Amino acid sequence: MNPDFLILGGGIIGLSTALELARDGARVTVVERGMAGGESSWAGGGILSPLLPWHYAAPVNQLCHLGNALYPDWVADLQSATGIDPEYWRCGMRVLPPFDANAARDWCAQHGWPLVQDDSALWLPEVAQVRNPRLIKALRAAVLARGIRLLEETEITAVTRAGSRLSAIHTTHGHMTAATYIVTAGAWSQMVLGELAPHWPIKPMRGQMLLFRANPGVLNHVILQQGIYLIPRRDGHILVGSTVEDVSFDKSTTDAARTMLHGAAITLLPALQNAPLIMHWSGLRPGSVENIPTIARHPVIENLYANTGHFRYGVTMAPASARLLASLIAGTAPGLDMAAYRWVGA
Ligand SMILES: Cc1cc2nc3c(=O)[nH]c(=O)nc-3n(C[C@H](O)[C@H](O)[C@H](O)COP(=O)(O)OP(=O)(O)OC[C@H]3O[C@@H](n4cnc5c(N)ncnc54)[C@H](O)[C@@H]3O)c2cc1C
Repeated sequence: MNPDFLILGGGIIGLSTALELARDGARVTVVERGMAGGESSWAGGGILSPLLPWHYAAPVNQLCHLGNALYPDWVADLQSATGIDPEYWRCGMRVLPPFDANAARDWCAQHGWPLVQDDSALWLPEVAQVRNPRLIKALRAAVLARGIRLLEETEITAVTRAGSRLSAIHTTHGHMTAATYIVTAGAWSQMVLGELAPHWPIKPMRGQMLLFRANPGVLNHVILQQGIYLIPRRDGHILVGSTVEDVSFDKSTTDAARTMLHGAAITLLPALQNAPLIMHWSGLRPGSVENIPTIARHPVIENLYANTGHFRYGVTMAPASARLLASLIAGTAPGLDMAAYRWVGA
């Protein structure tokens, strides 16, 4: 029997969208080219906040804010359904200079965000984090437990249109049809739809990260300075990120980024001088204009929706974005003005 929904791409956005749609009993299939969550969603840092919210437009902050509000219950539900702990941790973030203290104070006061400022730094105590690989593992297990069909190692190679509807997708394992299609293919979203979205401004933006092994307790909060951050995990690992590079679909890592991130990490936390550097990787973020994702129906194709283009904050936005898309499809009030997330460039 054909599913109600075919989800095109199984990253954190695709998996969370599938779970949200299946909540009301819909039959959902997720089609993923590799392993679920193995691309940008695995590569990310897991800070649950825009790095400096006062640098972003309201639609980014609103979505992140809603995501943040949903996170504690969302991860608790995932953990109770699967036994896997995504390691949600409200560890706080310390921002080191230079920064615009007035902009920070004004924004935090206006939005009710706690902020502590001393001579040398800003302290944002509410900033939380999650451990991406664990979150993905939990999401994948929850998807399977919910009876959602997850087709991994299955690449979408083309889509077929019949008038104002999408009629099928073609994959490396044959063609599939559904009542409704949702593209969640991250940086590859425009490529998956091809001529159906020729000018969609979603493109890959590479980010490189390093991972150190340190002792638990060496660092207990996120540190951010001029776009470079350190993220401690509970077991002592410390991530260092990140570059933002416009290099198309090139996912290689570079010596220059490694040297830059390594030097910055030791400056921020001299204790890392003696910690082993155990990994260096990159991921392709789904870049979008002003970091505003598309959460909308296609302007012409009635049964095609998108939930993609979350750029630097897809982990933060995932639960909110999935919920908003499900509301949109169900025709219920989403509780946010969705105009900013409309589909442009189709
Ligand atoms: C270095 C780095 C640091 C980051 N740090 C943070 C952070 O601290 N906080 C935060 O909130 N966000 C962060 N992000 C951003 C976040 O990771 C992304 O916004 C999020 O993962 C996007 O999720 P997605 O599901 O849309 O994309 P993806 O995880 O890339 O998933 C898209 C999926 O579609 C699949 N796909 C593509 N083409 C096809 C096809 N033809 N057929 C079938 N499947 C296909 C891919 O295989 C992939 O699994 C970071 C990202 C990077 C790279």
